[in-house]
Amino acid sequence: MAVADDSGPQSGPNLQALQRQLRSSQALLQEQGALIAQLSRSENHFRQLVDLLSDGLALLDPELRILYANPAFEAILGESAASLVGLPLARFVAPQDRASWDRLSGALLAGQGRRIRLSLGDAGGGQHILDMEFIPRREEGRPADGSLLLARDVSELNAARQELERLALSDPLTGLGNERSTRRFLTDQISQRASIPLALLWLDLDGFRRVNHSQGRSSGDRLLCAVADQLRGWSRPGDWLARMGGDEFLVIRPGLGEAEAWTMVGDLQRALACGVPLPDGEGLGMGFCAGLSLYPDHGQEADTLLRQAATALGRAHDSGQGLALFYEPSFTETLRTELGLEGRLRQALVEGHLRLAYQPQMDPHGRLIGNEALARWRDGERGEVGPATFIPLAERSGMIQALGHWALEEACAQQRRWQLAGLQPPPVAVNVSPRQLLSASMPMSVIVAAALKRHGLDPHLLELEITESGILPITGVSEEIERLAALGVTLAIDDFGTGYSSLESLHRLPIHKLKIDQSFTANLLSSDSTRLIVRAALSMARELGLQTLVEGVETGEQLQMLEQMGCDGYQGYFFSRPLEVEDCARLLADHAQRPAG
Ligand code: C2E
Ligand code: MG
Ligand code: MG
Repeated sequence: MAVADDSGPQSGPNLQALQRQLRSSQALLQEQGALIAQLSRSENHFRQLVDLLSDGLALLDPELRILYANPAFEAILGESAASLVGLPLARFVAPQDRASWDRLSGALLAGQGRRIRLSLGDAGGGQHILDMEFIPRREEGRPADGSLLLARDVSELNAARQELERLALSDPLTGLGNERSTRRFLTDQISQRASIPLALLWLDLDGFRRVNHSQGRSSGDRLLCAVADQLRGWSRPGDWLARMGGDEFLVIRPGLGEAEAWTMVGDLQRALACGVPLPDGEGLGMGFCAGLSLYPDHGQEADTLLRQAATALGRAHDSGQGLALFYEPSFTETLRTELGLEGRLRQALVEGHLRLAYQPQMDPHGRLIGNEALARWRDGERGEVGPATFIPLAERSGMIQALGHWALEEACAQQRRWQLAGLQPPPVAVNVSPRQLLSASMPMSVIVAAALKRHGLDPHLLELEITESGILPITGVSEEIERLAALGVTLAIDDFGTGYSSLESLHRLPIHKLKIDQSFTANLLSSDSTRLIVRAALSMARELGLQTLVEGVETGEQLQMLEQMGCDGYQGYFFSRPLEVEDCARLLADHAQRPAG
């Protein structure tokens, strides 16, 4: 329906007044301004314009009753203009906006204009959020005579904005909070309840990467959702739960001191260890590492508390699976030192300040059967830094790939140099980090093949030591191991007994050698169970047709016992410490002169 007939309250003079009002509100109608000016030259054109407006337009009398409503306003309220006429606008104001309306109506009754966002209820029981502009209708020099109301329905826009806000403040996968909303929550909590303590628990699931790699990302996603559900079930009213990215979650619980926070950790460990129910009906026990910080003990600001929990988590992570640690100021100091060391290691790598030492490997007859290449670093500031410090640092910082490539290149080059010097070096064993096998940039087999070719080295003179955790059934790793074996190099499992390799994978993959970890050797004489394990491992290796080498042999007694068990090779301080290049060259020359057998 268009404008009501001329005999009613919307007669000619009213329409002319409306025309005047509209002219004065051109600023509001911005883009339609030019059109208004053009169309409103005649009343007929003006009616067309008002009918066509997508925004609601109404005239209100001085008591805020509706005198006229255009079709868009009818559509908003779901009633015809005829039935709207005479009704007070207040009748449509949604209950939650009544207080705002009361304040507004006072100003309107006093002849003032206003801009406001209000919700109006429609005939069907729905609500519309409207951006409204009330413009007083005033003949020049006379008091206001009601208002012109322009109303734009922003319900959809508002819903879209709220959805965007929700998405920006929540983790799309699990529906928990995200880092941004966590920061906001924490800031609010601190400002509102300044005296109530808070505990932050930042946790990182153990072994999640393995699930993701071995069973695919969608399984990983399902597991994360299941953990989120488990956390929801475990949480208490007042807790805040968030996913901080990857497999990291955060719990904030108000009212906890240190002792209660430890209880909370134990509680959560039990809840997740009991099994996270997966959608396919199976359950998976999950462990985690955690870092904790406390408000107000550790910090007064959201950012500080989050950073401290993250630092404590990093430290817990480095110390092993399943550990939880409270933040300590020394962690920040350690982190700073580590960052400095990381920078210097990067520089040492680029400037060629790393070197390889070589530790001899002997067979049961005392013959040299190999040398293990071990990275060494003398830092200008700290002096000699041990691999136990800089290898994990390189792993954490992603430098291990570059370091591993350098070690491979240098070991191959050294083998060639020794050959050219007339020495006959036995195979050199180079350590390979599991991360090198998973490298996305270039397959390890391509890098090894190129190094062999570049230095003209027989593949039998190169052995690669892969730690046990590196041969997990991860997508792509088995294939890469097969490609490496196809090059003709020897593949050894390093530190055997400390990881998770299954007999099945040892049998299935083209592995040639097991290196039994030195921790077993250290306990060989004192522990019956260790002897049992070593004997079983050696006999299992024999069954599988694998060569064996025992690491960390330090004494004649250990050697004697190992000889009784039957082992193909030994490495340890009993024979030699890792040697610098020149010392190793002397050893090679020495062995070359010995009579065979
Ligand atoms: P690993 O591969 O198991 O190397 C053997 C480690 O045991 C070496 O420590 C060696 O010095 C030490 N060792 C040898 N015989 C004995 C002994 O009789 N008693 C004792 N207590 N220890 C002995 P190192 O050189 O400190 O290296 C530690 C680890 O660092 C290596 O363990 C290896 O996992 C890693 N690493 C060293 N160089 C590299 C490298 O170039 N790349 C990678 N990815 N890792 C490396
Ligand atoms: Mg090794
Ligand atoms: Mg080892």
